[in-house]
Amino acid sequence: MTKPHIVILGCNFAGLTTARYIHAVVKDKADITIIDRKSLLTFVPNIPLQVLANVNPAIDLQFKFMTFLEHDGSEFIQAEVTTIDPETNTVFYQPNERLGHPVRKIKYDYLVVALGNRLAYDKIDGFDEFGHSVTDVFLGNRLRNYLHKEYRGGPIAISSDIFHQGKSDKLPKDMPVALTACEGPPVEMAFSLAHWLEKNHKGETSTIYLSTPAEVIAEDAGETILNQLVPMMGNMGYNYRAKTKGIKKIHKGGLEFNDGSTQEAEIAILFPDWQAHDFLKELPFTDDMGFIITDLYMRNPDYQNIFAVGDAASITVPKIGSLGHMEAEVLANTLGKELGIIQEEVKPMEFELLCMGDMGGIKGFYMRTNEWWGGHESHLEMGITPYALKMGFKQMYYTLGGKIPHWGLALSEIVADHTFI
Ligand SMILES: Cc1cc2nc3c(=O)[nH]c(=O)nc-3n(C[C@H](O)[C@H](O)[C@H](O)COP(=O)(O)OP(=O)(O)OC[C@H]3O[C@@H](n4cnc5c(N)ncnc54)[C@H](O)[C@@H]3O)c2cc1C
Repeated sequence: MTKPHIVILGCNFAGLTTARYIHAVVKDKADITIIDRKSLLTFVPNIPLQVLANVNPAIDLQFKFMTFLEHDGSEFIQAEVTTIDPETNTVFYQPNERLGHPVRKIKYDYLVVALGNRLAYDKIDGFDEFGHSVTDVFLGNRLRNYLHKEYRGGPIAISSDIFHQGKSDKLPKDMPVALTACEGPPVEMAFSLAHWLEKNHKGETSTIYLSTPAEVIAEDAGETILNQLVPMMGNMGYNYRAKTKGIKKIHKGGLEFNDGSTQEAEIAILFPDWQAHDFLKELPFTDDMGFIITDLYMRNPDYQNIFAVGDAASITVPKIGSLGHMEAEVLANTLGKELGIIQEEVKPMEFELLCMGDMGGIKGFYMRTNEWWGGHESHLEMGITPYALKMGFKQMYYTLGGKIPHWGLALSEIVADHTFI
């Protein structure tokens, strides 16, 4: 009997972890093929750290995953995915190592979409000339060069554009709606940059102007955390503004917001709209914005052999890797059950925000909460322990090739919930 073929599109956080979790569950009972346009994983969460340390993020944050997939017996194809035909179970892809390849086809029995999103820098007028960010290694290195070689001590704006969350009546009911895609990084950047400014005698906390289009920054952190965090940042001296309605324009020397207000800035570190890839918008299993519709088992309700995980999935809001990680586990178990390998009931996705950020000076913050989804967990800790956990996570991820053991997150929760240093 031929084995089912599982094709996974995307091999960054969500794709690699899902590939490795699926393999751990199904072992030799299925063939696995993974396609990504690059053969290195970008360890995005640590880019701000490298920028401030004056290290090119490309050096240490591009991780070679190939040996881990080889070890599992999974196939990897380096190619651009051009589209999917869900009626014939076909993915179209174009190898991209050298230009000139014809488009090829690959058939799947099960498809996992882990293609992340397109970050719409190009929708911010003036970003090409005046915008900065830390969302990829190119932008990280650009900001690093400016900060360390040219920065004159002027105001630094940190802001997000509006996120357009997808809608569909096929999505699970009562999902909360966010106005920004991912505001842990702006908060982290504000903390760690203030420490860098002071340490390098280039400015202070009040040099930083933090703003959000939403009612409050990092709204998904829930009321209990925000009631501590927002006043605390005010007391520390941050300039803070909410309800900007998004970024209208960036020009030399400042920003214009959609509410008509402006912000002077020598540097503007911006987080754009997280949008679905264009080709996904045309497909019959995506929501009105092109994010993949799934249930809480990460499965599309109409095309039962199509799954999604990570930022590409409609239910992944905010767009953070820790949600993708939890979804990877649910998805692997769901496929294990489907293939008759797991007998017991699979638990559906349970949402929880887990975020560890750098604050500079070997300190970090840790948030774990499910309040935004209606739960009652809420932990905010600051100190050396969250920093150590953040750095330890990268080490563990590289050592284990993305296959964080199931007790890994649970252990970090136990340690961080009771931070005492
Ligand atoms: C500065 C910053 C800090 C962050 N910090 C944290 C943090 O501390 N904790 C946390 O949980 N999350 C954090 N996040 C969010 C986290 O980085 C993302 O949620 C995570 O990277 C999403 O993983 P993904 O695999 O779903 O998508 P991606 O990381 O975007 O990966 C998508 C993959 O698909 C590939 N791909 C896309 N389109 C195609 C195509 N057409 N053909 C072939 N390949 C394609 C890409 O090459 C890529 O490898 C942070 C984000 C930022 C920007």
